[in-house]
Amino acid sequence: MNFHILTLFPEMIMQGIGTSITGRAIEAGHISVEAVNIRDYSDNKHCKVDDYPYGGGAGMVMYAEPVFRAYEAVREKIGKTPRVLYMTPQGRVFRQEMAEELSKEEDLIFLCGHYEGIDERVLEEIVTDHVSIGDYVLTGGELPAMVMIDAISRLVPGVLNNDASAEIESFHDNLLEYPQYSRPEEWRGKKVPEVLMSGHHANIEKWRREQSLIRTMLRRPDLLENANLTKQERVLVDK
Ligand code: SAM
Repeated sequence: MNFHILTLFPEMIMQGIGTSITGRAIEAGHISVEAVNIRDYSDNKHCKVDDYPYGGGAGMVMYAEPVFRAYEAVREKIGKTPRVLYMTPQGRVFRQEMAEELSKEEDLIFLCGHYEGIDERVLEEIVTDHVSIGDYVLTGGELPAMVMIDAISRLVPGVLNNDASAEIESFHDNLLEYPQYSRPEEWRGKKVPEVLMSGHHANIEKWRREQSLIRTMLRRPDLLENANLTKQERVLVDK
């Protein structure tokens, strides 16, 4: 899976994604991350990439042309036209289902805005998806792109040591994950639930499923409507 990020701050992307699990995934060749500096595609002798908005108002707006050229350079290099995800607080909110859907693509282009955003004309021309990471406004699209790349990468086969671990995590099937424990068996007077020490796999599974349901009911009841529940579980949560 290949991520191409159009940005004014490529170093931010490479520092963020080049470490830990995603860093190892790059080294192992499971994913590739290319940060393309939009400024390199400016035709202005001072490499200027933004200007005041027509109609007045605060802030600066990024020019259309350097963004378009950076996009064309990626397209030419890879010889195809992938989806272009514009990071914007005005987009569809990113969720695990979207991460699962996007993890099936071979190439993705992320477009990061800055300042007041990007000239609308180039967005109309190249963007296929407007995506937000939540209802708040950040200074730039780099953190949203990194959030998405991290979430998508861990669904790419080989990136996690154990591929099954992505399948039983929070939001898969619209349930939150059960609580997790590790050594020691007792920590400051708190014991690990006995069932987890029993070695009885069926009972462990049952306990984990119950905990998932309880946790989702308490913390994120909004998810339950679309959760994949048995008839019995549905009756229980609808009470
Ligand atoms: N003027 C824009 C508006 O009101 O919709 C906000 C611009 S914001 C200050 C600058 C850039 O940060 C945006 O172009 C976008 O790329 C990114 N950004 C800010 N908040 C975001 C969010 N919640 N999700 C995704 N991208 C975001």
